[in-house]
Amino acid sequence: MTWRFALLIEPAASDDPRTDFADTFAVVDPTSPALSIGELSTQRGDGIFESIGVVAGHPQEVQAHLERLAQSARLCDLPAPNAAQWRQAVARAAAESPASGEGVIKLILSRGVEHGPAPTAWVTAAQAADNTAARTRGIRVVTLDRGYDSAAPARAPWLLLGAKTLSYAVNMAALREAKRRGADDAIFVSSDGLVLEAPTASVILRFGDRFVTPEPSGAILHGTTQVSLFEHLAAEGHEVAYESIPVADLARADAAWLVSSVRLAAPITAVDGAELAMDAELTASVNRYLLSPRD
Ligand code: PLP
Repeated sequence: MTWRFALLIEPAASDDPRTDFADTFAVVDPTSPALSIGELSTQRGDGIFESIGVVAGHPQEVQAHLERLAQSARLCDLPAPNAAQWRQAVARAAAESPASGEGVIKLILSRGVEHGPAPTAWVTAAQAADNTAARTRGIRVVTLDRGYDSAAPARAPWLLLGAKTLSYAVNMAALREAKRRGADDAIFVSSDGLVLEAPTASVILRFGDRFVTPEPSGAILHGTTQVSLFEHLAAEGHEVAYESIPVADLARADAAWLVSSVRLAAPITAVDGAELAMDAELTASVNRYLLSPRD
């Protein structure tokens, strides 16, 4: 049985002092049309979003997702979200989630209707896909040129590379290209040869006891799962670091993962057709951590 839930939100100003935002929420039928035809989110992909993992009814890392929503809003010149209002909307969606299994809560803030007065906002909740195979058997990836050098984000901040915008057509095209090449997923690389991120996940490599991930310098989205995992690995006594990672390091790594809020840690078993060892024990332990309740 799949389940779905949707809540339209009348966005409050970030300094709105109310403590109860219930009367700004309207539950809508997730299977029926609810948005205006003039929506800039659908016409131009002009808006931002977050995907929050839900485990046994518990929404994971809500604070980190709300902080990133605020950061995306800043980068996109959207009004600052009211954190208390979004937190209540997430709690409302989580309360509708089943007490077992995994789900995903999406937060969407669009620039609104063309020529309209205000942004549009809504939250959805749905059952997550079964990601067991990716977590236990792993995924094959190919590297794909993102077409920008690593200095592009500083030179052209309007590319919004560090924001989680609704414009994911490029990311989806990269996934289709990966599948055409016989892989499950892709890793974007800069035109000057540095590892960036996957279309919907962050990249983590292990060299001995050291875990590294590309610096979140504006060229990539700073992943909430990667941050949470680095805290966990550091607490377990491992070394963790943000670095510039040359593409050649992918083949040299002792193990590698793509990590994200819903699929969690998917071990990489091949890069561009070259096999990579999979650390099954560490992967299982990392996913146990990611599936535990996290705030
Ligand atoms: N990078 C990109 C481009 C993404 O779309 C995502 C998640 O969707 C991530 C990284 C991982 O972010 P998180 O761990 O917060 O899900």
